[in-house]
Amino acid sequence: MAARTVPPDVMQPDSPSAAGAVHAELLILAELAPLGVLDSLEQHRLGRHLREGCAFCDRALDRAWRVLDVLALATPPLSPSPGARERLRVRVALAARTRFPVIGGS
Ligand SMILES: [Zn+2]
Repeated sequence: MAARTVPPDVMQPDSPSAAGAVHAELLILAELAPLGVLDSLEQHRLGRHLREGCAFCDRALDRAWRVLDVLALATPPLSPSPGARERLRVRVALAARTRFPVIGGS
């Protein structure tokens, strides 16, 4: 198999290929977005790009959501490990006390 090479003009910011490289990055963001792994800057960039009307990335985002839906349905549900319910209950109770302290409570 031949090694993939990047055309030299892709790295030049003023070249037409630079816009293609930026779009390729946004396309990857569209494919990753349903996984919830984008940071706020990436979400903002992708959202702006989609609002500008890129149908290609919009379709990629839609396909990614459909793949995730199929994977979710194909994955058997897991039972929590022993003690997980109690650990979760304690964490929720601690978070609730921190956020909503009882006035006059002990
Ligand atoms: Zn696009």
